Amino acid sequence: SSAKSLAAEVLRSGSMRGLPEGHFIDGGFTKPAHNRTMESFDPGRGEVFASFAAGNADDVNDAVESARTAFEKVWRDTPQVERARILRRASDLILENLDRLAVAESLDSGKPLQEALGDVRGASRTFEYYAGACDKLQGDSFPIGPDYMGYSIHEPVGVTAHIIPWNFPISTIARGIAPALAAGCSVVAKPAEQTPFTALLLAELLVKAGLPAGVCNVVTGTGADVGAPLTHHPQVDHITFTGSVQTGRAVMKAAADDITRVVLELGGKSPVVVLKDCDREQALAGVMGAIFENAGQICSAGSRLVIERAIHAEFVKELVARTKRLKLGHGLREPDLGPVNSAQHLEKIAGFVERARAAGADIATGGSVTSDPETGKGWFFEPTIIDGAAPSDEVVQEEIFGPVLTVQVADDADHALELANDCQYGLVAGIYTRDFSKAHQLARKIDAGQIYINEYFAGGIEVPFGGNKKSGFGREKGIEGLRSYCKTKSVAAKIS
Ligand code: NAD
Repeated sequence: SSAKSLAAEVLRSGSMRGLPEGHFIDGGFTKPAHNRTMESFDPGRGEVFASFAAGNADDVNDAVESARTAFEKVWRDTPQVERARILRRASDLILENLDRLAVAESLDSGKPLQEALGDVRGASRTFEYYAGACDKLQGDSFPIGPDYMGYSIHEPVGVTAHIIPWNFPISTIARGIAPALAAGCSVVAKPAEQTPFTALLLAELLVKAGLPAGVCNVVTGTGADVGAPLTHHPQVDHITFTGSVQTGRAVMKAAADDITRVVLELGGKSPVVVLKDCDREQALAGVMGAIFENAGQICSAGSRLVIERAIHAEFVKELVARTKRLKLGHGLREPDLGPVNSAQHLEKIAGFVERARAAGADIATGGSVTSDPETGKGWFFEPTIIDGAAPSDEVVQEEIFGPVLTVQVADDADHALELANDCQYGLVAGIYTRDFSKAHQLARKIDAGQIYINEYFAGGIEVPFGGNKKSGFGREKGIEGLRSYCKTKSVAAKIS
């Protein structure tokens, strides 16, 4: 495919042509106010491949001002059907640029190219879905007696800020800004400083699709220099933050100052409950994908296997055998498992596993830092399984955000439920069993925002997603995701 040939060219040259420079403000690329840049690393090689604008509060001010003007003068009053057509064209343009976007995403984040292709297709589908919702944001009417009339309308909240992590750059910005734009909001997005490029490319495509200048702006740079001023900005009406609990807390405090609306999509430590009556092959494939996709750097990764004692030994043995066969490599060579995103993050993952090892953990496979077997370079961690873990272990309670699976043994389904819920996070959970009553009983009792039965990561943009407990609050995706960007106004009139 042409993604493959582009990937080969990028691997040969060590960089990628046509990457955007500057922020994207008011419909075009602009130089950062202080003219500073930052470097972007290829995690598969641990080497710099490009630079990008290091923004600051002045750039944030420009972007928010542009968004505010575009909201008030143009987008708020653009007919819904016109918004729908623009989002629909954006969906098509994303697919037309699939190869370029996916290669940039893989190079910047380290994720395997085939996963990046899936993410970009998903972003296109997100715009398609919310394009269809633009002209269906209907209000209600209220029965308040023969002398009155009551009805409601859904108004856009205004200027929305979107703060994006590095693990799913294009998916996360798409699932935030597509519903915001559909609702009639204008947006300022801040991608993670590790992965700025696809957000900029997307903003450019939106303008090509007909989005008026200023409706979508992207400012790149660090959390301290760009993220913090954006969350404190008095002209921002809503913040969707996706990232760590620690930063989420800071964002919520910033939002409190101005009573700004906020959706927090934070970390996870999600259980995959495997019962003895499961379809063994289905469960094995599910558990492998749940923890090793994107090298485990997924908020909703299935990082805790909770398995019934009767099948534990045999299941883990097969899991270990499959894990040992995984092929590591540079993301653009389409490995089973790519690198992790940064040297600093690699160190963090290794620290968790080292402390577990020192405390006597049973590391059934993996457990060490490694490199691309072809080049000896890059930031890789071996896919790792820690067997016989206890609920109080650090590796069970804390989000590692890497290819590290812990295994907890349950006596029966009730015990599995107890283990599944014994955690500060509540993002998602997986359940594998052939007994559908049992599956749905567990689905009710597990404290998580989304439950997958017999297929981990099942469900698409149609299904609401978001966390309970420390995983945050608010929901993205689905029609519920659209509601975050609307404020209900009710009108009551005396008509007699
Ligand atoms: P992070 O919190 O370090 O950074 C996320 C974003 O916030 C980045 O763009 C960063 O620059 C910005 N930021 C940093 N400090 C800021 C501040 N003071 N004010 C405003 N913005 C600031 O998280 P990360 O390491 O990039 O991402 C990994 C985390 O994200 C994991 O915990 C993961 O579970 C979580 N995550 C959650 C979801 C979800 O949907 N629930 C999805 C993906 C990732």
